[in-house]
Amino acid sequence: MFGDLFEEDFSFISNNHCGKGKKSKPRDSEPPAPRDFTNLSGIKNQGGTCYLNSLLQTLLFTPEFREALFSLGPEELGTLDDSSKPDAKVRIIPLQLQRLFAQLLLLDQQAASTTDLTESFGWNSHEEMRQHDVQELNRILFSALETSLVGTSGHDLINRLYHGIVVNQIVCKECKNVSERQEDFLDLTVAVKGIAGLEEALWNMYVEEEYFENENLYRCGACDKLVEASKSAKLRKLPPFLTISLLRFNFDFEKCERYKETSCYTFPIQINLRPFCEQTEMDDSEYMYELFSVIIHKGGCYGGHYHVYIRDVDELGNWQLQEEDRLIEDKLLRETENAEEIENPLAVLKGIFSEEESKQIPVDQLGQRLLEKKGVSWNKKYRKQYGALRKYLQNHPQIFHFSPDENKVGLKEKQKLLFMSDSQGQDLQSRPQKNDVQWKAEKKPTRLRDSSAGHHWFDLNDSKVQPIKEKDIEKQFQGKESAYMLFYRKSQLKRPPEARGNPRYQIPEHLLNEMNAANTELQKKRVECDSANNGIDLHLHLSSCYKFHNGALHPSLTWKESVVDLTIDRRKTLGDLRQSVFQMLESWEGDMILSIAKPLPAGLHLYQILDGDELTLDGVGLADGTDVFVWNGKEVGGTKVMTGPDHEPVVVNVLRLAEYNEGGKGQHFTESQHVFSCSTKLGDLHRALAPSGGIILKNSAGPDKEAKNWEVFREEDMKETVKSVGLTDGCSVLILDSHDQSFVNVSSGNLTAFTYDISWLQVKNFCRTEDEEKPVKITATIETVMSDIKRKAIRELQLEEELANDSCLRPVSRNGKLLSPVPEDYTVKEAELKMGSLLGLCHGKAPTSTQLFLYFIVGSDQNASPEMEIVVEETASVKECLNLMLEKSGLSGDNWHLRRIDWCYEAGEALSQENATLKELNVCRGDTLVITEGKLPPKGFLKIPIWWFKSSSHRKHGENAEDKVNGLTYKMEALQVSSAGDSPEYIHTDMDLCYAGSIEIAGEASLEDLKMQYVLIWHLLLCHVQWF
Ligand SMILES: [Zn+2]
Repeated sequence: MFGDLFEEDFSFISNNHCGKGKKSKPRDSEPPAPRDFTNLSGIKNQGGTCYLNSLLQTLLFTPEFREALFSLGPEELGTLDDSSKPDAKVRIIPLQLQRLFAQLLLLDQQAASTTDLTESFGWNSHEEMRQHDVQELNRILFSALETSLVGTSGHDLINRLYHGIVVNQIVCKECKNVSERQEDFLDLTVAVKGIAGLEEALWNMYVEEEYFENENLYRCGACDKLVEASKSAKLRKLPPFLTISLLRFNFDFEKCERYKETSCYTFPIQINLRPFCEQTEMDDSEYMYELFSVIIHKGGCYGGHYHVYIRDVDELGNWQLQEEDRLIEDKLLRETENAEEIENPLAVLKGIFSEEESKQIPVDQLGQRLLEKKGVSWNKKYRKQYGALRKYLQNHPQIFHFSPDENKVGLKEKQKLLFMSDSQGQDLQSRPQKNDVQWKAEKKPTRLRDSSAGHHWFDLNDSKVQPIKEKDIEKQFQGKESAYMLFYRKSQLKRPPEARGNPRYQIPEHLLNEMNAANTELQKKRVECDSANNGIDLHLHLSSCYKFHNGALHPSLTWKESVVDLTIDRRKTLGDLRQSVFQMLESWEGDMILSIAKPLPAGLHLYQILDGDELTLDGVGLADGTDVFVWNGKEVGGTKVMTGPDHEPVVVNVLRLAEYNEGGKGQHFTESQHVFSCSTKLGDLHRALAPSGGIILKNSAGPDKEAKNWEVFREEDMKETVKSVGLTDGCSVLILDSHDQSFVNVSSGNLTAFTYDISWLQVKNFCRTEDEEKPVKITATIETVMSDIKRKAIRELQLEEELANDSCLRPVSRNGKLLSPVPEDYTVKEAELKMGSLLGLCHGKAPTSTQLFLYFIVGSDQNASPEMEIVVEETASVKECLNLMLEKSGLSGDNWHLRRIDWCYEAGEALSQENATLKELNVCRGDTLVITEGKLPPKGFLKIPIWWFKSSSHRKHGENAEDKVNGLTYKMEALQVSSAGDSPEYIHTDMDLCYAGSIEIAGEASLEDLKMQYVLIWHLLLCHVQWF
C-alpha cells in the first residue's frame, strides 16, 4: 500500500520532494491552545491519520525507543536546516520523528502536527493521508526507519527493541531427529476467532503440538521416509518489546467478504511468557511482560477510528484527577468483589476445580461441591440464567474437558495452567466480561494496588488526552470498539529514577534549545493574543472638564477634549484601574470616585459607583467602550449631581400651537426641548410647561414615527412620574391652552386623526370700531368650516350669539385691509387661509359660494371716491353688475362702463361685453372694478387714442414714429389695437408726445382710414382748442 514511500534516496536529497522541513505556512493569528491538565500533548488529526497518531504516541511512550532515537545526533543524521542543500546527507524521517517527539514532550501546545513528518514520508495529498491499517503501518514505519538509519549507530534500533525469534520444530518419532526452522518477527499476529483470549491463542500457537500420523505423515530427512512426527513452535527469543496484532479482521469465505471479529478477547495486564518459550529454566522475571499500550479500533472493517490507551511509564503526564476518585473506587470494588465472583459461574467452577486434588470430578458431585464451598446451589443461583449445569459445562468445551463416558468433568490442561499462574500471583489477568475467566486482579485489590497503583493510563485520541483507569482497558475486550494491537514491555526494563516525571530526559541539547525557543515564542504570542483579547478601552471623563446644567453633565469644552481613553486588561482589578487613573492625573487631589457614566440625549448621566478595589474589571461588568466619570462623588462645578437610573434625564419635545408664522412655513407648532428627571412627577412637569393650566398630551409613538395618536394625561396621571407614564427621550408632549380643549375627545382619552394639524386663527371684532380690541385665538384645522370659527369667535369675544346671523369673517391683510369675506361653508383650506392669520368679524352677511364679493370705485381717483363693496351673483351680467354699483354709489345715466383695476390700481381693461356674466369674464371674489365715465364704442368699433409726435429734433424718435405709420393698409385689429384703447399713462412721457384725443373706428378700417379720421380731427382741434 505504501510502495516506496518510506524509502529515502540520500544521493538525490536535493531533488527529493519530501521533507523540506520547515515550510513557511500562513500561521493562524491565534497561537495554538496550551496543554490541558494532563500536561500531555495530543496529535492533530490531519484527515484520517488517527492510526498514525496512535502508533506515534505508542512509540513516544516507549521510553527506550525514543531515547534510542534521541541518541542519534546531527553528526549521524544531519540537520533539517541542511535538507535543502544539494550535497548534504540528511536523514529526514528520523530527524522529523525526533522533532515531533521533542514537541510532544516539551512544546506547550494541546496537539502537535505531523505534517512535517508525513511530508517526510512523501505524503502530500489527502489521498495519501487516507486511513491505512495500523498493523501495516507499524511494519512499514519500522522498515522505513531501519532503512533510513542504515550506516548509523541506530541501524539496529528496531531489531534491538522489537526483534524476536520463533522456532518451528518437527521431531521424527523414529530417529528423534529434530528439524528446525527459525522465524524472525517484529510483532506476533494472533487469531481472535473462536478464542477466548491472548493466553489461549499463545497456548494454541506455542504449546499445542501438531501430529503427523496416519495418512498425514512427515518425510524425515534423516530416515529418508514418511514417518510419524510431532510439530511444535516455541518462542526462542523474546524482544524487550512484544507487539501483538489481533486478527480482528477476517475473511468470510462463504459470504466472500471481510468482517470484523467483535467477540470477547481478553488479554492480561501482565503476562508470563514462560509456557510459550523454548528456554524455560531462567528466572521468572525473564518471562514477565507488562501491557503498556492498547491500540483500539472503533468501527467496522471498512473504516473507523483509532485511539490508544497508553501507560505513562515515566509518569510525564498529570494523572492526579484519577487519584482522587480512586479511593472511592477501591471502596466500591471491595464491596462488590464477593458479589461479583458469585455472579460469574465460570469463575466459581474454576475455583472449585483448582482446589480439587483429582483432575476430574463426577458431574453430579460438582453441584454438591458448589453448595459446600460457595454456599450456592446451581439450580437456585444459575439455572434460570445459564441452564442446567451439565449443559453449561458442555457449552464451554474450551475450558472444560469431559471424560470419554461423559460422567466426569475437569478443567482443560491449559486452563489449569493459566489458573495456576494466576494463583501464583502473576497477575495473569484474563477476565472476560461476562462468562469467561475472572479478571484476577480484582480478586486481590490490595495486591493490585501494589503492582498497579502507580500505573498512569491515558486515552490518547488525536488531539484529546484523558486520564483513564487501568480497569477501563477491560472495556476494549470486545465489541465494535475493541483492542486491535497490544504492546507489552518486559517487566525487567526499569526506568532510571531521573527519567521519572522528566520529559527533558535524554533529549539532545539542540532540540531542547529549539523547544525552549518555540515555547518562548508561543508564550509571547499568547501574551500578545491574550492582552489583545482582554484589553478594553475605557473612556474617562474628568469632572473638571464638565458642568452640570439642564439636568445633565455637559463638557465645558468639546466632547473630545473632555475624554481620555485608557486601555486596560479586563482581568485587572478596580484597584489597578484607580492606580492607572491616578498616574494619568498627576494633580488629582482628594477622593477619587469612579462612576459608570452613560451619554444620554440630555447629556452625560452617572450611574453606579465602581466599588471594591479587589474586584476585577470583568467582574464588575466593565466592557470595552464603557464611559467612566472621575469625580469626587458629590458635586461637579459646585452642583450636586444626582446619579442612578432613578434620576436619568429625559429630553421631552414640547409642542405648542405656533403663533402666526412662528413655526416657519407650513408648521403649526413650535417645538422646544425640555429636560426632566425621569422621576419628575407629571404634575410638576405640567406646572412647569403650562403654568396657567390647560391640557397636556403625549404622542405615544416616540420620536421617529409620525403618529397621530395623542394621548391625554388625565388628572390622576399627575401623580405618576415621567418614567412611569413612559415618557422617554424624544417623546413629544403637546400643550394646549384651556380653550383648545374642545378638540380633545377626553371621554375616549384620545385625540384622533386631524389632531396633528391643529392650529389656530385669530379673530378680531370689527363690528365695534370705537376702541381697539385684542384678537382671540380660535383653534382650527384646515378642515374647520368658517361658520364654526365664526361661532367660536363670537363666544370667545363674548358677543351676542345673534350676531352670528349678520356677520362674516373677513381676512385682514398685512396692511390692515379687510379682504373679501369668506363664504360660511368654506373650510379653512378652501378659503386659502394661512394658519395663524387674522380674520375680522364684520357686520354683513358673507357671500354664498355662488356669490361674488366685489370692491368698486368711481373713476380712477381713489381719494375722490371711497372704495365700496357689493355682493353680486356670479351669474349676473356686466350690465346688471354696473347697474347695481351705480345704484349703490348714487349715480345715474348710461354714460358709464366698467373696467378692471390694473396692477397699479388704475382703471384697466374695460369689460366691454355688457351681456357676458361676471363668471364668464373671470371676475373673482375680491376683485375691484372701476366705474368709468363714457360709453363703450359700439360692437365692432375700436377706440384709439391718438398721439401727436411733437418734435422731430430727435432723429431716432422720428424714425420710430415713421416706422409706426408704415404699412398703412394693415387693419386695426391686425395691429392688435385694443378696443378700449391704451391708457395714456402707458406711454413714456419723456418722449415728446402729446395726447391728441381718441378716435372711434371700426375694426375693419385700414390705417389709411385712421389717418383720414385723424386729419379730420386735427383740423377740428386746430380750430377750437389750444392744447397746451
Ligand atoms: Zn527420522
